[in-house]
Amino acid sequence: MKKIFSENCNLSSYTTIKVGGVAEYFAEPKSIEEFYYLIEWSNLNNQRCQIIGAGSNLLINNIFIKGLVICTKKMKSLTIDPYSGIVEAEAGVMLPTLSNSLAKNGLQGGEWAVGIPGTVGGAIYMNAGTENLSLAKNIISVKVINNKTHEKLEIDKKDINFNYRSSSFQNNDLAIISAKLYFEPNGNLQKLIETTKNNLKLKTEKQPYHLPSFGSVFKNPENNYAAKLIDDIGLKGFKIGGAEISIMHSNFIINNSSASSKDIYELITVIQQKVLQKKGIYLQPEVRMIGFDYPN
Ligand SMILES: Cc1cc2nc3c(=O)[nH]c(=O)nc-3n(C[C@H](O)[C@H](O)[C@H](O)COP(=O)(O)OP(=O)(O)OC[C@H]3O[C@@H](n4cnc5c(N)ncnc54)[C@H](O)[C@@H]3O)c2cc1C
Repeated sequence: MKKIFSENCNLSSYTTIKVGGVAEYFAEPKSIEEFYYLIEWSNLNNQRCQIIGAGSNLLINNIFIKGLVICTKKMKSLTIDPYSGIVEAEAGVMLPTLSNSLAKNGLQGGEWAVGIPGTVGGAIYMNAGTENLSLAKNIISVKVINNKTHEKLEIDKKDINFNYRSSSFQNNDLAIISAKLYFEPNGNLQKLIETTKNNLKLKTEKQPYHLPSFGSVFKNPENNYAAKLIDDIGLKGFKIGGAEISIMHSNFIINNSSASSKDIYELITVIQQKVLQKKGIYLQPEVRMIGFDYPN
C-alpha cells in the first residue's frame, strides 16, 4: 500500500482551540481499510498510535508528539434507512451532519446533537451530549479495532458502559470505526427540522460557539455547575497569555488568537486551584489532553 501518512504535521489546525504540537506521523484515512492498515503499521513498527476526531475536546501540548496520530474526519460514510430507523455512521461523521440528516429523513431523537462540533467516534468515546441526551440512547453496536491485536470486533450496547461524559472506551485500547444506531422513524419532518435549527440557535446564543475553544473545560460536579463555581469566585474574563475564561460562559476557555497550549494548561490549573481553595471542590477536566503529564 502506498504511504498514506505525512511526517512532522502541525496539529493546531486539527483542534478547535487551534493549538497543538507536531505529530511525528499523521494520517487521515478515508476508509476502514486504510484505518486498519495504519493501526497495524503503528503496531508492527512499535509506534504509539493516538486517534483524534474533530479535535473539539482536545488540548494538545505544543511539543513533538512521537508516533502516529490518526484523524478520522475523512471517514464520513453515513447510511440512513428512513423506514426502519437504522443508521450506520463511520467514526468521522460530524454530529451536526448526523443531526440534520436524521431530521431530513424524519428520524427522531438526534435533534440535540446539532450543536456539538465533534465526530460520532469522539461523541461515543466522550459520551458527549446535552442534559441527559447522548448517542448512548441510540446505539445498537459499535465496530472497533483492537489497537494491540488488530482484531476487528462489533460490541453490543449492553457491553458498553456509559456515564456522565465517560464511556468504557476511555479505559480500553480500542479504535472506534463506526456505529450502528436506531432513531425512531416517521417523525414530523417540518417539526424535526425546525427543532434542530432552533437547538443550534439556542446553543450559539449561550456559548462562544464561533470562537476557538474546546467546549466545556470541566465536568459539572454532582449537584453543581462548573460555570457557576468559576463565576462565583470572580474568574469570568480572567486571562493567562492568550487564554481567556469566556465572558459568555465561564466553563469555556477561548483562544483569543495568540494562546499557547501552556497558557491554556496553566489557566486550567489556576481555575482548579482557586475553586478548590475557595469552594472546596475539585473540578475534573472534561477535556482530554495529549502530551501533558495529566491523568486522562
Ligand atoms: C463549541 C463547542 C461546543 C461543545 N458542546 C458540547 C456539548 O454540548 N456537549 C458535549 O458533551 N461536548 C461538547 N463539546 C465537546 C466536544 O465537541 C465533544 O466532546 C465531542 O464529542 C468530541 O468529539 P471529537 O470528534 O472532536 O473528539 P476529539 O476531541 O478529537 O477526541 C476526544 C477524545 O476521543 C477520542 N477519540 C476520538 N475519536 C475516536 C475514535 N474513532 N476511536 C477512539 N477514540 C476516539 C480521542 O482520542 C480523545 O481522547 C463542545 C465543543 C465545542 C468546541
